[in-house]
Amino acid sequence: MNASHHSSEADNAEVAIVTGGAKGIGLGIARALAHHGRRIALFDLDRAALDQASTELAASGAEVIGLAVDVTKGESVNQAVDAVMERFGRVDVLVNNAGIVRDKRITKMSDEDWDIVIDVNLKSQFLCCRAVLTPMSTARYGRIVNIASRAWLGGVGQSNYSASKGGVVSLTRSLALEWASAGITVNAIAPGIVDTPLFRTFDSALQERLQKSVPAQRIGTPADIAQAVSFFAQREASYITGQTLYVCGGRSLSSPSV
Ligand code: NAD
Repeated sequence: MNASHHSSEADNAEVAIVTGGAKGIGLGIARALAHHGRRIALFDLDRAALDQASTELAASGAEVIGLAVDVTKGESVNQAVDAVMERFGRVDVLVNNAGIVRDKRITKMSDEDWDIVIDVNLKSQFLCCRAVLTPMSTARYGRIVNIASRAWLGGVGQSNYSASKGGVVSLTRSLALEWASAGITVNAIAPGIVDTPLFRTFDSALQERLQKSVPAQRIGTPADIAQAVSFFAQREASYITGQTLYVCGGRSLSSPSV
């Protein structure tokens, strides 16, 4: 656990949890939410990256805790949310961002490839929503933003990933209905191709083909995604729920061949 505390007059400041917040899109989201004055809790598996991200956010003036959490494990998630409540006393925003890929055609896909993608990308969102909805319902306020993917539309070699992200879209719609009367909104973002450590794992030829397939002719940045998350996370966005917003440079509008 990494904690840094700037003695702050802002003990009433909003609190945001970002899963997978130690790097990539999640870190971009944490930066944006901190920029808007929120206290931040990062949930991530990667302790070294958590330390680095927490140090960076604290240096920019944010109050932040980094918690080593496996978001696929209910007990680990519940303990982490309890730790956030103990430290900060409230949870206003949850961004379910942790996610992985294990791309393979289905005949090459192992049971493990299927299970881990569904667990990290979808089950984690169920577990984190369940854990925060108790304090949010007591407060009669909450903003949940689930990170899906444009790939929920379907992709060759992505049956596990697209099914998990389609599940995220449906989970978002159901929870939006379930919690609308409690002042809690639940929305999703469907990013297109974004420059992150995950994207860098692709070989350079694939990276280039992917970039050319974007109508905007560029790869997105974590800040592009964070901008949309910030919109849904605003107090003022109270009449928007159950929606999935594409942030993909127009790529959802055509049928890319890669
Ligand atoms: P990334 O691999 O760069 O970062 C993901 C983070 O999640 C890492 O810090 C990792 O340690 C953490 N994580 C993984 N498993 C975890 C677990 N079980 N418990 C806690 N933390 C865990 O990925 P990214 O590209 O930043 O992706 C973030 C989200 O955006 C994912 O949901 C991904 O599916 C989605 N997305 C990414 C792209 C893209 O092009 N990069 C496109 C569409 C959607």
